Amino acid sequence: MAGPAQVAIVGAGMAGASAARRLHEAGLSVAVFDKGRQPGGRMANRRDRETGLSFDHGAQVMRAHGPAFRRRLDDWKSRGLVAPFDTDGTVTAVPDMTAPVRDLLAGLDVRAGRTVTALARTEHGWRVALAEAEADRVFDAVVLTVPGPQALRLLAASGCALSGVERARYAPCWSLMLACAAEPSVPGDVLRPATGPIAALFREGVKPGRPEAPPAYTIHATPAWSKAHLEETPEAVRASLLAALGELFGGPVTPLQARAHRWRYALVEETCGAPCLYDPVQRLGYAGDGCLGPRIEAAYDSGLALAERLIADLA
Ligand SMILES: Cc1cc2nc3c(=O)[nH]c(=O)nc-3n(C[C@H](O)[C@H](O)[C@H](O)COP(=O)(O)OP(=O)(O)OC[C@H]3O[C@@H](n4cnc5c(N)ncnc54)[C@H](O)[C@@H]3O)c2cc1C
Repeated sequence: MAGPAQVAIVGAGMAGASAARRLHEAGLSVAVFDKGRQPGGRMANRRDRETGLSFDHGAQVMRAHGPAFRRRLDDWKSRGLVAPFDTDGTVTAVPDMTAPVRDLLAGLDVRAGRTVTALARTEHGWRVALAEAEADRVFDAVVLTVPGPQALRLLAASGCALSGVERARYAPCWSLMLACAAEPSVPGDVLRPATGPIAALFREGVKPGRPEAPPAYTIHATPAWSKAHLEETPEAVRASLLAALGELFGGPVTPLQARAHRWRYALVEETCGAPCLYDPVQRLGYAGDGCLGPRIEAAYDSGLALAERLIADLA
């Protein structure tokens, strides 16, 4: 191999970003492809330019259980990229939930708005086909960090296989981004109702760096409710969740803006059962929360684990 090994990473969520940063630090050359307009994946944010409203409509908060992510959170804390959210060590990101991923990817070759449609192994390495064009170089290895079912579809479209990916299973989540015309009588800034369709409600304005007015909330429906209403239109889901909120608030909600977003693969229900998957013969790997569990930390640790496998193989 002349020059540093070239690694294509599909997905710029937390797993792709942690893998990319570690590989770059070890001297490998990475290119990160993501179909989204900005990196972050399920650590997502939607900001309305006109109103300034900001919604973290995917993950809201994170917490470290192990040493690697704790060190990373401490670093982000010292640089103001995360701030305490709760007294149990839970933090949120600043100015929005995409900030940690953007930090990990800073200065790297990130190609947003690029959908990977197929991978082809040639005698010179991997070719990456994009919906928009073909990537301009061949790669020594490919890392998939998209949710398991999407990885399976991409592998099938490419005539490849990677054993274990099929084990990852996810529950969906319907999210509602709501700005209220008037201050509602909500009994708290964070609610986790024990019954009904709503799993959690977060007031956006209590997180640092977000506008405090108008009152804005991100609401996540429960996995069971989201599964039962998976194929409904966003308009129908919006109406149902607004009605459920009316009951929770003890009166009708007057939305200034209310938009429903479906996460088809939101929270991991079953994992692959390993920190990452890697086939050294194909030089093809898989990382993501689908390997370790339904948390940002799991995606981070899985990305790191796969990076270490690649470094041992390629560096
Ligand atoms: C509603 C919701 C609430 C959550 N709340 C929390 C929480 O509070 N705390 C917590 O710890 N976790 C939470 N999670 C889970 C957490 O967000 C995930 O575990 C974590 O972000 C997963 O990261 P990842 O890198 O594995 O995958 P993802 O973030 O899904 O990244 C995969 C990326 O791949 C891209 N992609 C997919 N297909 C292609 C393709 N063909 N070509 C190019 N790019 C592609 C996607 O655009 C995406 O950016 C929540 C998730 C959701 C949906």
